[in-house]
Amino acid sequence: MALNNYIFVTGGVMSSLGKGLASASLGALLQARGFKVCLRKLDLYLNVDPGTLSPYQHGEVFVTDDGTEADLDLGHYERFTGYRTTKADYLSAGEIYENIILTERKGGYNGSTVQVIPHVTDAIKRFIFASTESFDFTLIEIGGTVGDIEGAPFLEAIRQVRNELGAAHTMFIHLTYLPYVKTAGELKTKPTQHSVKDLLHAGIQPDLLLCRCEIPLDVAIRSKIALFCNMTPDNVIAALDVRNIYRCPTNYSREYFDERVCHHFNLDYRDFPLSKDWNQKWGELVENIDNPRSRITIVVVGKYTELPDAYKSLREALTHAGAQNQVGLDVRWCNSEQTEDVIAEIRGADGIIVPGGFGARGIENKIKAIQYARENDIPFLGICLGMQLAIIESFRNIAGVKDANSTEFDPDTNAPVISLISEWTKNDGSKERRTKDTNLGGTLRLGQYPCDLVKGSFAHKAYQQDTIQERHRHRYEFNAPKYKEQAEQLGLVVTGSSPDGTLTEIIEHKNHPWFVAVQFHPEFKSTPIDGHPLFVSFIKSATTRKANAS
Ligand code: GLN
Repeated sequence: MALNNYIFVTGGVMSSLGKGLASASLGALLQARGFKVCLRKLDLYLNVDPGTLSPYQHGEVFVTDDGTEADLDLGHYERFTGYRTTKADYLSAGEIYENIILTERKGGYNGSTVQVIPHVTDAIKRFIFASTESFDFTLIEIGGTVGDIEGAPFLEAIRQVRNELGAAHTMFIHLTYLPYVKTAGELKTKPTQHSVKDLLHAGIQPDLLLCRCEIPLDVAIRSKIALFCNMTPDNVIAALDVRNIYRCPTNYSREYFDERVCHHFNLDYRDFPLSKDWNQKWGELVENIDNPRSRITIVVVGKYTELPDAYKSLREALTHAGAQNQVGLDVRWCNSEQTEDVIAEIRGADGIIVPGGFGARGIENKIKAIQYARENDIPFLGICLGMQLAIIESFRNIAGVKDANSTEFDPDTNAPVISLISEWTKNDGSKERRTKDTNLGGTLRLGQYPCDLVKGSFAHKAYQQDTIQERHRHRYEFNAPKYKEQAEQLGLVVTGSSPDGTLTEIIEHKNHPWFVAVQFHPEFKSTPIDGHPLFVSFIKSATTRKANAS
């Protein structure tokens, strides 16, 4: 029988302290102690989903197997625990309000007044509990920072859950910040005290504090925080800065975080020892990341290069693949929209990536980068938009079809080598159809779909499987009915397709050391321990190139 415990993670003082990583790390530790764990996120903003948010606002849109467009923290959960998130694990305030207002419009409340309490709070509680019966621990991260005006209904809902289930089945963890003031030579606790007071206003007494800090916490400061925040010093845990994020779980464990969580739920941690296998694998992983044998340079030619979170999963997939190859990656981010000379920026690269993206801005420089990779035998990985542009590049520069384009950028092009997906079979067997007049909002092909691989291809060698499952987020595709034959004459072969043969999933250049472009997003399924086959194979070929050159 599952324990059915609920852990709520809130954040204080400011954002970007690593609430998602703290939740993911705790999830990983509890799992490594043999518990069954589920991880969820509640976001406070009024967007119904993050699909339409600019990557500059909240970073990348993470896509789950079932096609949910979600916050990037779900990526951390999956990478740290292997737990596969679904629609049930992500909810925004916007979606709650949308559902409530739609129900109200249909007369669903029988004339009663619709209010934050109970209607919004009940919706939040339904989300918290839905399909969690089989889990020992459900970790729920509340977005934003305590004190955010939108957060009130969420704090109220979790307060009610505590009242209903009691402390034996619920735990409040609060992540806060202790600024180090150099002139005083000490860590300051006042912002934390205020943040905990804000929580108390909402009726929530945190059970454990995670304190982000630059220097270790001594006994005196732990005692001071404990005194002011009504807890035992043992439950004041340091969250020290780490060299790489994969050190978080073991660092937290060294601070007894997981033991204190067990203690809270009346579980003796000695009865649930950390798995040796897990310890060893994570130990090797962080060593491989921090002490690589050699280094290579990978250039990513993208659009949202200034904000590290905009390509979060891509960054992590590269790190994983580097660790697998025991090679350190110097990743250079080239902004295709702003660069004056893209070739100068990619020169010296051992591998080039053109990632996913939307809209026409910056595409010409990406096409130049692809041409450079193709002509100079530099390992190339194109992802989603990167694949579409690789096709356009070959048609323009090998076949001389100067108008070759995507109808996304030029709806009236004479050579639509990339065009709107007209029809595809959904996983439930139903058909989805598109015309150019179909409403674009929420009409992407989203989520995991199968893809059959051609034997002997780079992709098949990497995956060593005949059929793979990968996640998608796109609206346009290779216009294979019209252009496949011509593409193959250019050496650009289709090596992955939907099982019914209609959608092109992978293209490769035959006469190249490693040129693979995929319509899906492999980065969403990369795991730190195993890496992703395509990324591992790409980094391997980039490493070989560098070794051969020197
Ligand atoms: N804009 C392209 C499309 O809609 C590619 C999308 C992507 O790279 N995620 O198909």
